[in-house]
Amino acid sequence: MSAFDNATVSVSLDAIAHNTALLARHAPTAQVMAVVKADGYGHGLIPSARAARAGGAQWLGVVGIDEAAALRAAGDTGSILAWRTGAQSDFATAVSLDVAVSAAAPEALEAIAAAARAAGGRASVHLALDSGLGREGAPLGEQWDVLLAAAASLDTALVDVCGVWSHLAFADDPHHPTIDAQRAAFIAGAEQAQSVGLDIRLRHLANSAATLTRPDLHFDLVRPGLAVYGVSPIPADGAAFGLRPAMTFRAPVFAVKQLPAGHGIGYGHTYHATHDTTVVVAAAGYAEGVPRSAGNSAPVQINGGRFTISGRVSMDQVSIDIGAHPVAVGDVVTFFGPGDSGEPTVEEFARACGTISYEIITRLGARAARVYVGG
Ligand SMILES: *Cc1c(COP(=O)(O)O)cnc(C)c1O
Repeated sequence: MSAFDNATVSVSLDAIAHNTALLARHAPTAQVMAVVKADGYGHGLIPSARAARAGGAQWLGVVGIDEAAALRAAGDTGSILAWRTGAQSDFATAVSLDVAVSAAAPEALEAIAAAARAAGGRASVHLALDSGLGREGAPLGEQWDVLLAAAASLDTALVDVCGVWSHLAFADDPHHPTIDAQRAAFIAGAEQAQSVGLDIRLRHLANSAATLTRPDLHFDLVRPGLAVYGVSPIPADGAAFGLRPAMTFRAPVFAVKQLPAGHGIGYGHTYHATHDTTVVVAAAGYAEGVPRSAGNSAPVQINGGRFTISGRVSMDQVSIDIGAHPVAVGDVVTFFGPGDSGEPTVEEFARACGTISYEIITRLGARAARVYVGG
């Protein structure tokens, strides 16, 4: 093993490209928007975006206009949508960089039109419909009516209202009855938008789970995020879909010691050695993104063996009781990876921490260097 002192997040760019192409094959009638928000789900915004483009993503999805601007600054010239926007957003930047934006209220549409007028450009807008999630978007009824009326009154030379989108509440449960209800509401809302004269060409509702399990929700475009990075979006083995996990999270062992039976380990001594044993200390703690809930619960792999994090997670390290397993300073602790060599997957690691894989991968800290493989 090469010498390293800090935890590393290694990312397979080939896996991201592979997964994007796989998602495109699952949705052959739709365009693919690879979601690269939150620093590419912790994998790195720019490298992830490039790999997703290489895999065939026609669109990139982000929440912030600042994220879209970072993509443009890195040379991305393709279609981008930023959706966590409101009347306060920097639409001038979006228009000047040709980034499509979302709108869910008439005030936002006014701000978008004003920005387009000032910039001498044309804004591209996707209307957000709340088809049942109860989060962003205008609900059907009066709020959707008012939004559509405002959209229809805009100068089409300034604003191209080309999309309607919504988001699912239970996508990870593909047969949940709310999905059919959201589908029906979405279709009704999109038809209503057409009927007021808007030229809607991009209807989109599907995240990763719906892209993989609900072809009836593909419409014109799909918006997978988690699956782009190879992580299963539903409680099934991602390998069953042909996904390849892109991320491996590792840290070096920087101390190895012998402790006698009964010795407490770490803050609060929440773990005691049951035998005379060997304990290793690895260079990743909650500052690197190992949740405190991983203490005494989450699995790791060291030199081919599986162990559990012993005692509390500290800011900068974790301890692991490895019994008589052979180990030396500089050996590698793998917290999670693709699972190909028996290491935990991020789904398994997250479950042991009482959370979801999304939270684990997006919260890995900046001190853990990103290392890119392939691409
Ligand atoms: C994050 C997000 C997605 C991607 O969701 P996944 O479950 O990661 O596929 C799609 N659409 C919206 C609106 C999102 O916020």
